[in-house]
Amino acid sequence: MSRVLVIGCGGVANVAIRKCCQVDDVFTELCIASRTKSKCDALAEDLKGATKTKITTARVNADDVNELVALIKSYKPDLVMNIALPYQDLTIMDACLECGVNYMDTANYEPEDTDDPEWRKIYEKRCKEKGFSAYFDYSWQWAYRERFEKAGLTALLGCGFDPGVTQAYCAYAKKHEFDEIDTIDILDCNGGDHGYAFATNFNPEVNLREVSAPGSYWEDGRWIEIPAMSIKREYDFDKVGHKDMYLLHHEEIESLAVNIPEVKRIRFFMTFGQSYLTHMRCLENVGMLSTTPINFEGHEIVPIKFLKALLPDPASLGPRTKGKTNIGCIFTGRKDGREKTYYIYNVCDHEECYKEVKSQAISYTTGVPAMCGALMMLTGKWTEKGVHTVEEFDPDPFLEALDKYGLPRSETHEPVLVG
Ligand code: NDP
Repeated sequence: MSRVLVIGCGGVANVAIRKCCQVDDVFTELCIASRTKSKCDALAEDLKGATKTKITTARVNADDVNELVALIKSYKPDLVMNIALPYQDLTIMDACLECGVNYMDTANYEPEDTDDPEWRKIYEKRCKEKGFSAYFDYSWQWAYRERFEKAGLTALLGCGFDPGVTQAYCAYAKKHEFDEIDTIDILDCNGGDHGYAFATNFNPEVNLREVSAPGSYWEDGRWIEIPAMSIKREYDFDKVGHKDMYLLHHEEIESLAVNIPEVKRIRFFMTFGQSYLTHMRCLENVGMLSTTPINFEGHEIVPIKFLKALLPDPASLGPRTKGKTNIGCIFTGRKDGREKTYYIYNVCDHEECYKEVKSQAISYTTGVPAMCGALMMLTGKWTEKGVHTVEEFDPDPFLEALDKYGLPRSETHEPVLVG
C-alpha cells in the first residue's frame, strides 16, 4: 500500500508509470504531475481498466519549489519519483525536504542555463579541481546528504539503466564475484534502427549535450579528459553484433570511483552509427547545439531548444524502432587470490518493449529500473537515510526485480575484453 507522486510524463515516465501499474499491490495510488497536464490525463485514460492502481493527475511547474510543496502537501505521497529533467532535481529535493518525503530520480543535476554566472563560477572551480568538464556532477546533490540524513529521509539518485542498473551490476560483482575489482568497462550498445537519418532516443537536449561533450575516464585515482569521440573501439555484442563504440564521460563513473575505491580504471563506451555522428558534428559546427539564446527576427530562441522542436519526438520512435540494446559491465580483478573476468549485461528488444508498454527500449531500460528502485524503497529493502547512488544498496533484490519485470541479466565469465 503506497502513494507515489511521479513528476514528469515524458518517454521514461510513461514506461515507469505503466510498470508501476503492473505492480498494483505495491503502487496502490499514483499521482502523475507534469508541466503539460493533458499528457498526464491521456496516460491515465489509457491505463483505465488495466490496473487497480488509483491514478490522479495534476499540473505542476517543477522549477517552482512553492508549487511543488503545495502539491506534495495536498497529495501526501510516501515517495516522489522525479522523472522530469535533470534541471529540476534540486527544486524537487528541496520540496521533498520541506515536506518530509523520500525522493528518487534518474539523472544527476545539471543547470538549464549554463551561462548563469553564479553557477559558472562553481563549475569552473570544479573543472580545475576534479579534471572533467561535464556540466553535470554529483556535488550539487551530495550537498543534500546531511539534510536528508537529519530529516530521516532517503534520496536515491540516478536509478535508470546507466546510471542505475550499471551500478547495481558493479555492487553485485563486488558482493559475489570479486574480492578486488581492478577495472570496469561499462558498455552501452543500441543496435536499434528507427529509420530516420537523425533522431535522439531520449530528450534531445540532454542527449546531445552529453554526446558532444569531451570524454573522460577514471584511472589511477584521477580523471583523464579527452576530446569528444576521440577514443573508438569495436565490440561484438551478444544478440546485436559488431558495433563501433566511443568513450564518453558518464555520471556513474564519479560515484563508482568513490564507492569502489580500489578500482584502477573505469571507462564508459556508447555505440553510435556514422549517420548519427555526421549529423551531430554538423549541427555542432553550425551552432545548433548551443544553449545560449540568440535573437532571431525579434524573437529570442535557444538553438538547441529550436532543434528539439524540429527533431522527431523520442516517444514517436517506438512503433518504428527495430533491433536490440545490450548494456552491461565488464570487470577484471581477483577472487581468492585468482585473476578473473566477468561480464553482466541485459539485452532488450525494441519491438517487444513497444508491444508491452508502447515505447522503444531506451525509455524502457530507464523506466523499468526507476519502477524497481521505487519498489525497493516502498517495500523497505532500500532504507538507508541520506543521499545515495544505486551501488550503495544491496543489489540482490533489485536485480531480482529487474529479472522479473522485464530486464533479465545475462552473464559470462569469459568475456572478450575491450582493448
Ligand atoms: P522527456 O523530455 O521525454 O520528458 C520530460 C518530462 O518532464 C516531460 O513530461 C516534461 O513536460 C516534464 N517537465 C520538464 N520540465 C518540467 C517542469 N519544469 N515542470 C514539470 N514537468 C516538467 O524526457 P525523458 O523521459 O526522455 O527523460 C526523463 C529523465 O530520464 C531525464 O532526466 C533524463 O536525463 C533521464 N534519463 C536517464 C537515463 C538513465 O539510464 N539513467 C536514460 C535516459 C533518460 P512537457 O511534456 O511539458 O515537456
